[in-house]
Amino acid sequence: EVRVRFCPSPTGTPHIGMVRTALFNWAYAKRTGGKLVFRIEDTDQARDSEESYNQLLDAMRWLGITWDEGVDAGGEDGPYRQSQRGEIYQDVIQKLKDGGFIYESFSTPEEIQQRHIAAGRPKESGYDGFDRDLTEEQKAAFRAEGREPVWRVRMPDDDITFNDLVRGEITFKAGSTPDYVVVRANGQPLYPLTNPVDDALMGITHILRGEDILSSTPRQIVLYEALKKIGIAKFTPEYAHLPYVMGEGNKKLSKRDPESSLFLYRDEGFVPEGMINYLSLLGWGYSGDQDIFTREQFVAKFDVADVNPNPARVDYKKALAINADHMRMLDEAEFTERMIPYLEKEGVVSTPITEEQRALLAKATPLVQPRMNLLGEAPGMLRFLFIDDADLVIEEDALKKLGDDPVSVVRRAIEVINEGGEENFTTEKLEASLRAAIIEGMGVKPRLAFGPLRSGISGRRVSPPLFESMELLGFDSTLARLDSFAT
Ligand code: GLU
Repeated sequence: EVRVRFCPSPTGTPHIGMVRTALFNWAYAKRTGGKLVFRIEDTDQARDSEESYNQLLDAMRWLGITWDEGVDAGGEDGPYRQSQRGEIYQDVIQKLKDGGFIYESFSTPEEIQQRHIAAGRPKESGYDGFDRDLTEEQKAAFRAEGREPVWRVRMPDDDITFNDLVRGEITFKAGSTPDYVVVRANGQPLYPLTNPVDDALMGITHILRGEDILSSTPRQIVLYEALKKIGIAKFTPEYAHLPYVMGEGNKKLSKRDPESSLFLYRDEGFVPEGMINYLSLLGWGYSGDQDIFTREQFVAKFDVADVNPNPARVDYKKALAINADHMRMLDEAEFTERMIPYLEKEGVVSTPITEEQRALLAKATPLVQPRMNLLGEAPGMLRFLFIDDADLVIEEDALKKLGDDPVSVVRRAIEVINEGGEENFTTEKLEASLRAAIIEGMGVKPRLAFGPLRSGISGRRVSPPLFESMELLGFDSTLARLDSFAT
């Protein structure tokens, strides 16, 4: 059985590289009928925060990425927050010490540098293995100086080769990975130890993670061999390193770039369906000629072997186009619901929305759904329907390019609407009578005929379709607004 994991550290706000990793693990588990474990690597008290932890859960829930075991779900291999697994690590550390897989190291960083300089090597060369074979007397002497050792893993003197499921065979030359620290002097285990220990104890079979940590893989493979010998691991997992995500302008996407923040996309009004489609294209493709697909299609087709090793690039325009397509695919009632939080947030409707407002919104939905790229456009598009006539503000932009005499156009419209009366106040009849009176009767071009009416009722240059909007607004409001526009 495939068992994959998503194991972020709770620092900062979720960024799309990290979420892409979660998504690919999830899809792989789903496609193979395997399990996704969600573990939190919160061993760094200085950087980790509860706020970030909650945001991670929020991000997963928003996207609908579900997990089978882990935080908030439980499971046999818990606890799933590393901050609660201290005893487990101490037990493993003891076994690693007993087996001689890790050793005490007393060298300070300065001493290591000094030795490199003395030997004519670049001073930033990594750890030189000085403490590998200290005798008991030497160790006692260091201790007597008041030094407290860290613990390092003994790296083998051979090349380390593994088969990456995305990149094929990768070899790290002997000596290229120095013996690295796994336990601090105060006994605290570090990421290079806790991560593979938990992968082993949780039975993880496939490790899909970002290329940025490829350099840590040889160390983890070596530690895995030790974990097998002390009975903690049963097998070495397969690795797949997912490609870098580059920002616009071909720089590596940084956590600080706005287009890397998942919640900024959400706040703008991306729908999770669109976001998943877009994120899945960061390193994977559905087919040569199809960029738009559903979550189900993605899961049915996703395979690690198809991941492209070349760097992926964020493309906001493409994200927007994909999102727009997914917005159109939602059914109408669902679309109504999705708009509500955005309307509430901007105060366009009450919080929570009233039944009356909801009913009006449902009627407006078919008018705006085909015209929006982001749910965040809903407040601007629909505000005019929900406010009192007296509160309508005509945007400056909506007063431009209205022709020579918009007031006469509006006055004529008022007459026509009054003549027709409330019983003829329907989309079709309004359109027919206003066209006849203004375009044919006054000889005004269509754009100049209807632009002033649009501005008058909505206050905006762009609105949902005019006659439908009038009908929704109602006879009295439409007339009141046009009156105040014309005076
Ligand atoms: N906690 C690590 C990170 O956030 C996980 C790395 C891994 O997937 O092995 O980068």
